Amino acid sequence: MIKAVLLFPTILVGFLVVVYYAAYCEDAVKILDGGTVRGDIIDETDEYILIRRKSGDIQQLSKERIERIERGPSFNEEFEQRWKSLGEKDADGFFELGLWAEDRGRRKEAEKCYVRVIELNPDHEGARERLGHKKYKDKWYTNEDDYYKAMGYVKFGDIWVMPEEKEKYEAGFVKLPDGTWIKREELTKKPETPSSETRPKPSSPQGKKESWQRQVRDDAFFKDSSGSVAWNQRKTVDTGHYLLETNLGEKQVKFYTRLLEKLYVEYSKMFGEAKAKCRVMIYSSHQEFMQYEGRGGGVGGYYGGGRVVCYHGLFGATGSTQTVLAHECTHQFHDMAAGIRKAPIWFTEGLATFFECSEFDETGKLHIGIVNADRLKTVQEEIKAGRGISLEELLTTPQARFGGRHYAYAWSFIYMIGYGTKNLRKIFEEYWSKAVGGGGSGDNMRSDQFRRIAESLGYTLDELQSFWQEWVMTLNPKDYPTEAREKSLKFEADWKWRCKKK
Ligand SMILES: [Zn+2]
Repeated sequence: MIKAVLLFPTILVGFLVVVYYAAYCEDAVKILDGGTVRGDIIDETDEYILIRRKSGDIQQLSKERIERIERGPSFNEEFEQRWKSLGEKDADGFFELGLWAEDRGRRKEAEKCYVRVIELNPDHEGARERLGHKKYKDKWYTNEDDYYKAMGYVKFGDIWVMPEEKEKYEAGFVKLPDGTWIKREELTKKPETPSSETRPKPSSPQGKKESWQRQVRDDAFFKDSSGSVAWNQRKTVDTGHYLLETNLGEKQVKFYTRLLEKLYVEYSKMFGEAKAKCRVMIYSSHQEFMQYEGRGGGVGGYYGGGRVVCYHGLFGATGSTQTVLAHECTHQFHDMAAGIRKAPIWFTEGLATFFECSEFDETGKLHIGIVNADRLKTVQEEIKAGRGISLEELLTTPQARFGGRHYAYAWSFIYMIGYGTKNLRKIFEEYWSKAVGGGGSGDNMRSDQFRRIAESLGYTLDELQSFWQEWVMTLNPKDYPTEAREKSLKFEADWKWRCKKK
């Protein structure tokens, strides 16, 4: 049960949006010094427009440089036309149209589509999740409170917890990310930087253990929105690589600037440099976010219309704005680096769930590659119970059916091929460069391309499947990134590939 509530928030966080190039009529922007940029205008402010070109690149054009803008058919016309052209019973068609509208920042129209989908197919997971509905014991809940109550949770402050957790909190305990409980007093002692004599050196005998102390979520910080102004008085801060639009005060802006820039460094290691500044909006409260964005209470943020939008605050039992930002900004960065919709859902969500776990240490360094404890638990429990999903299934599950457990498997598979191993990392790199990255073909309707690339490097899907299942059981949710990595490298070195045994 705890698993459900821990997992739930992050599942809802993100979704990758679908773009139809073929049917969408372009906008054309005439530039003052001659030339025309064609594409799909996804955002416009007083200072600039963002235009997504056919290639998928997103370009930012300063208004000063623009002579005039010629717009393709308006959104309303096109939406109406598409709606009418859909067959009356085409649930998936309406779902795709909803995603298309959502990508253009048109939440109201998107919801209209999702509601239609549910009328046609009440168990359509994709539409349900996008409307913020939650499933428990085969029943869908449209209201978050009813859902948690049904699961036996009770409210503690702003969050839903199990009754026994509430007792712990009330008795003055706090929960560490690894699930252990400590007294609140001990917590304040922990983050103190140990003196140089007591701090274990990386080369010391216990050098396997990392020297930094994993942090507890700083609830006080995420609850503090002092210094914020009304939303219409917000400002746009250029953090270097991001344009951050927010009505938060100086202290929070400083934190998010640091977070975004550190994330940028990690993203660019994986994806290469971004071609333009990425846009992020952070509302100072959940209330504002719901009010201005028209989202249900269970949504922590989203990526759409080229922007990441979220709010300053806590998210579920373990998440916060940091988790949401790290997840959604992965989608954004991936799209900007590679072009939208080049990769299948298992890949994009695998990456987003990989990055969503990041932690600052006491010196301000941002660590990634943290074992995603909630996701790992799901996978390990299911495999133990003999209910694990196969690699083939993971690779072929379409977005509309990609539910919570798929996120967990996607996380573990990406962790394995993209981070934990050395030889398998070649599959990841090859797949990136040939299929889903900047220069890739983007042809990924089924698992064929991944299979071909793996096979060209000497691995069959069956072999990868057995390796994956055994490897994932060796991880521990408490592992530090380097521990998990070392363990994985050793496991990889010891593994006898079937092909080699022949
Ligand atoms: Zn996502």
